[in-house]
Amino acid sequence: MSETYDVVVIGAGPAGYPAAIRAGQNKLKVACVDEWQNSDGTYAFGGTCLNAGCIPSKALLESSELYQRAKEEFSVHGIKLGDIKLDLAAMQKRRASIVKTMTVGIAALFKANGVVGIQGHGRLLPGNKVLVTGADGVEKTLEAKHVILASGSTPIRLDAMPHDGKFIVDSWNALEFDGVPARLGVIGAGVIGLELGIVWRRLGSEVTVLEAVPELLPMADQAIAKEAQRHFKKQGLEIKLGAKVVRAAAVGTAVEVIYTDAQGEHKLDVDKLVVAVGRRPYTQNLLADGTGVLLDQHGFIQVDEHCRTPAANVWAVGDVVRGPMLAHKGKEEGVMVADLIAGRYGEVNYKTIPSVIYTQPEIAWVGQTEEQVKASGRAYKTGFFPFAASGRARAMEAAQGLAKIVSAVDDDEILGVHVIGPMAGELIGEAVLAMEYSASTEDIQRTIHAHPTLSEAIHEAALAVDRKSIDAINR
Ligand code: FAD
Ligand code: NAD
Repeated sequence: MSETYDVVVIGAGPAGYPAAIRAGQNKLKVACVDEWQNSDGTYAFGGTCLNAGCIPSKALLESSELYQRAKEEFSVHGIKLGDIKLDLAAMQKRRASIVKTMTVGIAALFKANGVVGIQGHGRLLPGNKVLVTGADGVEKTLEAKHVILASGSTPIRLDAMPHDGKFIVDSWNALEFDGVPARLGVIGAGVIGLELGIVWRRLGSEVTVLEAVPELLPMADQAIAKEAQRHFKKQGLEIKLGAKVVRAAAVGTAVEVIYTDAQGEHKLDVDKLVVAVGRRPYTQNLLADGTGVLLDQHGFIQVDEHCRTPAANVWAVGDVVRGPMLAHKGKEEGVMVADLIAGRYGEVNYKTIPSVIYTQPEIAWVGQTEEQVKASGRAYKTGFFPFAASGRARAMEAAQGLAKIVSAVDDDEILGVHVIGPMAGELIGEAVLAMEYSASTEDIQRTIHAHPTLSEAIHEAALAVDRKSIDAINR
C-alpha cells in the first residue's frame, strides 16, 4: 500500500513536530512518523525533549527546588513548617503526568494543523519514499515530494562503563529513579550532569560529579563559570575537575568507579552511576542504500546552512545535524525548512541561539564569551551587575549571581550577554531579541525596565558597560 504526501517528517521531537505543524500551516499534505516508546511500552510523540529530556528534568528541578526551599528557606520568610517529608512517588507521578499532558498535546496539535501522525519506524528509501513499519508491525510506503529527517540523538555509551539501566544508568533512567540513592556518582559535569546532580543532591543524595576537563563549563564565560563553581560547592555538589573516569562496574548492589587525575588513579564507590558524557546523532536503520544522504565522521547527517542534504528534496534538522543539541535550535530549523519547502522565507541565525542551564543559580547566555571576544582581537568593554544589588532578587531571597554584558568599543555592538542568577533563562530573552535586532548597548541603556524586576539587572549591566550604573558601584 502506498500513500502520497507533500512532506514526510521522520521524528516527532522538538525539531520534527514543529516542521510538520508549520508544513500543515503552509497547506501542505504532511505526515510525521515517530517510533518513540516509553518505559511502559506506550508510544508517544515529543521525542527526547518531552519524554526523557527538557520537560521531565525541569519538572524534577522545580519540585526538588521547592523541597529544598521549604526545608532551608521558608523559615527565613517567617514561615514555620512542621516536619517536611519527601514523597518521591508523588513527585515522580507529577513528572510523568506533565510529560503525558505535553505529549498528548502534540497529537492534538497535529490534528488541529492537518498533520497525519504515524507511530512506527521510518526508513528513507531512494526516490524520496519512506518505508514505515507501524507499531502494529504492518509495513507501508509513503511517497513524498520532500522528506525531513529529524531522528535526534541518543546518549553516548562507553564500553568501559557498561549501561545496565539499574546501577550504571543514563539520563533517562536517572529521571525515573524510584528511590533517592544515598551515594550518586555522575560522569560528566556537562549540562545533564549538573542538572541531574542538583536534582538528586537536593533530594538527599551525596553527589560526586567526575569531570575529565580541568575547568568547569569551558563553553561558558569564565566569570560566570567561576561564580557557578562557588555556588555548586556551597550546595554540597562535589565536582572533581580533571578527573577522567576510565572504567566502572556494578559490584553487588553498588558501583565501583575508577578515575584518574593529576595525583594518579582513584576508586569511588557509589550506589548508582549516571553516565552523562554527551549525546550522539541517531541514524540507526534510518537510511537505505542509495538515498544520497551523507553522514560526517561523527555520524551527523551532512547539511548546508539551510538544512539541505545532498539528496534532492531531503532535509535534516535538530540534533541529528551539526550545531548545539538544543530543542529550540531544532525547532527553528524545522520551521525554517517547512517554510522553505512552501516557497517562503526561512533562515536560522546561529549566532543568537541562547544556552540555559537550569541549575541554581540558573545560568544563561547568548553570543560570545569575554574569552572569545578577547581571542578575536576586537576591542571590547564589559559591564557587570550583581544580583545582590537587585531589590527584587533580595525580596525573592535569591540575590546571588550577576549579569554581564560584553560590547564592542568601536560601534557599541552587544557581543555577548551572560547571566547567572534567578530566572536567568527568562532574562536572556531580552538579550536575544536585542542582538537579533542588532541593538547597541545604548539601546538597552535607554530602554525603560519596570521596577522592581529582575530584568533591571540587564539594564544595569548595560549601564555598567559605560560606567553609568545607578544601583551598583561601577567597577
Ligand atoms: P529528539 O528529541 O531526539 O527526537 C527524535 C525523535 O525521532 C524521537 O522521538 C525518536 O524516537 C524518533 N526517531 C528516530 N529515528 C526514527 C525513525 N527511523 N523512525 C521514526 N522515528 C524515529 N534541550 C534544551 O533546549 N533545553 C533543555 O532544557 C534540555 N534539557 C535536556 C535534558 C535531558 C536530560 C536531555 C537528555 C536532553 C535535554 N535537552 C534540552 C536536549 C533536547 O532534548 C534535544 O536537543 C532535542 O530533543 C532534540 O530534538 P530532535 O527533535 O532533534 O530529536
Ligand atoms: P556535554 O557534552 O554537555 O557534557 C559531557 C561532559 O562529560 C563533558 O564535560 C566531558 O568532558 C565529560 N566527559 C566525557 N567523558 C568523560 C570521562 N570518561 N570522565 C569524566 N568526564 C567525561 O553532554 P551532556 O551533559 O551529556 O548533554 C548532552 C547534550 O544535551 C548537550 O549537548 C546539551 O546541549 C543537551 N542538554 C541541554 C540542556 C539544556 O539546554 N539545559 C540540558 C540537558 C542536556
